[in-house]
Amino acid sequence: MVHRVFWADSLADEVIERYGKDTEVVVKCAASPSGGKHIGNINDILRGYFIKESLKSMGVRTRHVHTSDDRDPLRKIPERMPDREGRWKILTEAELKELNRYVGIPYVHVPDPFGCCKSWAEHFNSVWLDGVKSLGVGVEDFSNDQLYRDGKFEVPTRTILSDIPLAKEVISRYQKNTPDDYIPFNPICEKCGRITAKAVSVNLGDWTVDYICESKSLAGEFEVPGCGHKGTTSLSNGKLPWRFEWPAQWQIFDVKMEPFGKDHYEGSWPSGQEISRVILNRQPPVYSVYEFFLVNSAKMSTRHGNVYITQDMLNIMEPEAFLYFYSLNPMKQKNLEVKNINFLVDGFDRFERVYYGGVAPADVEEKELADRVYPMLPIERRRKVRIPYTFAAMVSASRNEEHILRTLKKTGHLPADAIMEQEQDSLTRVRLAGFWAHHYGPDEYNISIKDNLEIPADITEAERDALRELADYIEAKHTEEETQYEIFEMAKRRGIKPAKMFKTAYLLLLGKPRGPKLGPFVLALDAEFVVKRLRLEA
Ligand SMILES: [Zn+2]
Ligand SMILES: [Zn+2]
Repeated sequence: MVHRVFWADSLADEVIERYGKDTEVVVKCAASPSGGKHIGNINDILRGYFIKESLKSMGVRTRHVHTSDDRDPLRKIPERMPDREGRWKILTEAELKELNRYVGIPYVHVPDPFGCCKSWAEHFNSVWLDGVKSLGVGVEDFSNDQLYRDGKFEVPTRTILSDIPLAKEVISRYQKNTPDDYIPFNPICEKCGRITAKAVSVNLGDWTVDYICESKSLAGEFEVPGCGHKGTTSLSNGKLPWRFEWPAQWQIFDVKMEPFGKDHYEGSWPSGQEISRVILNRQPPVYSVYEFFLVNSAKMSTRHGNVYITQDMLNIMEPEAFLYFYSLNPMKQKNLEVKNINFLVDGFDRFERVYYGGVAPADVEEKELADRVYPMLPIERRRKVRIPYTFAAMVSASRNEEHILRTLKKTGHLPADAIMEQEQDSLTRVRLAGFWAHHYGPDEYNISIKDNLEIPADITEAERDALRELADYIEAKHTEEETQYEIFEMAKRRGIKPAKMFKTAYLLLLGKPRGPKLGPFVLALDAEFVVKRLRLEA
């Protein structure tokens, strides 16, 4: 096989090798609308996006299909959930209790906790796909519930149920304690609406299922009480267990490629491919597995307080920078430290500069990769101005757009004759970095300019003198390093302890004793303001 610098190209090669170039390739991804779907879940869609783009560039027709697995039953009520705009809300005890009544009921039949959509499913699927759309990524979205109602699952379900002993034999190889009377179908109880009904027999003639609504344990964890109702229902009023439903979806959409996480790789993939081959008589799709990444050095969980959705990330970085993260090697373990998100954004800025030839690549591969992947990002074909992230965070302390633009021009980060779009690029970056600085960044970046002059009580004559010198120094043009170095010299010459001088300067500028590295920081502020303040004039 040809050596590829981009992982998605190797997968595209694999797909083409199996299906040729003339077959339309359906790339599938899925999400169960259980609540706020986090940035680990989005791997499914974004890995698929790059594979699809790669296939497209090789001349293959593609579709990117997403299923909202909204017939899944509500299991657990998350303590925090995002509203329609992606803002988190913590539920009250009373709200949790009220929602608990719906455990065991399919998401499509659970009311929207925010009351703005038709159902729980519609709410969380919309928040989820809004995030995806903000990245410029489009998918064809299907409701699993609708597919069942439309009878799309009828064919694979009949195939599976027409040989229950075979289904049982296959599944018992992967699932311990398969009961003797196992039937791979879960009817929805017509009395209580829960997926608690146990199928007791399948009537092959008219394709109905007799059931009794019994207590059931969901995912081996959540006990759901049954109501005892006995009835007979059709195949469209129930669902296949997940291990069967997944391969049935492959058949329905004729899926040829599906990326999924390590959990599925170890769980339902081994059974899924056998079910597909042996029961549905269909070759399972080409697959790719991604590693989950850590966020703030831990697995994302409400307990760790490190669950982020796409909307959270788009408060602190441009969509293209976020998307870039998912173009990186999916098999490499990664840790996303939100506190140090500047490293990711710097990585993106460099990637972009390598593409445009603005910086020498470290090696041939870096250039090749940028040339291959950058054009796949759904962004305007216009070179944007990128203000270095931490510098932008410092600049944001000023909160005055006019001052900010003046500073950026003075420091050469923005051309003197910048057009409005370039000014907007800069202000966007400053706003994003500023949001990060105030919500997630290290404490020294959580700053804003002190509006009024307040002279620290313990300021010495020598310090006043040094600050005046610093003001003069800033008026002349110097680099960040030069300025940083000179500040130490100015203190030393007067026998001031540098730490004391820094503290005095931070108090004057920020009203707090610490801040970002002083040299770059004074240059990130409006010169007129900073000079006056250091001269203790205003
Ligand atoms: Zn809603
Ligand atoms: Zn019931």
